[in-house]
Amino acid sequence: MKVLLVEDEQRIADFVTKGFGAAGHQVTHAPDGEQGLQRISGEHYDVVILDLMLPVKDGIEVLQTLRQSGSSTPVVILSAKVELEDRLRGFEVGADDYVPKPFFVEELIARAQVLVARRDGTTASNLQVGGLKLDRVKREVSWDDGSAALSTREYRLLELLMRSPDNIFSRQQILRQVWDIGFDPQTNVVDVCVQRVKRKMEAGTELHGVTIESVRGVGYRMKLQGSDA
Ligand code: CA
Repeated sequence: MKVLLVEDEQRIADFVTKGFGAAGHQVTHAPDGEQGLQRISGEHYDVVILDLMLPVKDGIEVLQTLRQSGSSTPVVILSAKVELEDRLRGFEVGADDYVPKPFFVEELIARAQVLVARRDGTTASNLQVGGLKLDRVKREVSWDDGSAALSTREYRLLELLMRSPDNIFSRQQILRQVWDIGFDPQTNVVDVCVQRVKRKMEAGTELHGVTIESVRGVGYRMKLQGSDA
């Protein structure tokens, strides 16, 4: 995703930029409302993350101006203003979502992705392989007769595998994409996490048509049962 972040606090801007960057997204940062509007009018962004308390022009003003100009780019408000009144005002002037500070960058990414997917007309808020469904907002995996909540790492691991079924991922690839580390830490964190996810998926059901398969000496893949691909 191409993301515009309008945020005056450098610390938060760095944190968001880093988080989105690690997940493969590109963030442009505007430090005040006026510069935010200039950026949006000059370039296409998939999603805008907008602080409310901003110098020069505040977030509500930015959003109003944006919507009046006919733009329907999804906007997520990211604000320390958490009162219902502030949230409702945000939605009233055209926000698509509202994330209160303090926040988890993973949640911000997930919410932004849902908005972008919805706009693209797809239903990427859910990812499905065989009888297994991954809910990107609730961060849980579900099947016919059950579901399990996932930790952040477990979720990212499962998302990676489910996005490309049958594709074999090496431990290094998984470490880079799920833990954001580009070296081999000489531990078995990947294997431990895979085992945990498998155990969760087995709880309450014996079969949903898919397994996480260990590929000896290489890594893991999500395999549809019955396919020998
Ligand atoms: Ca602010």
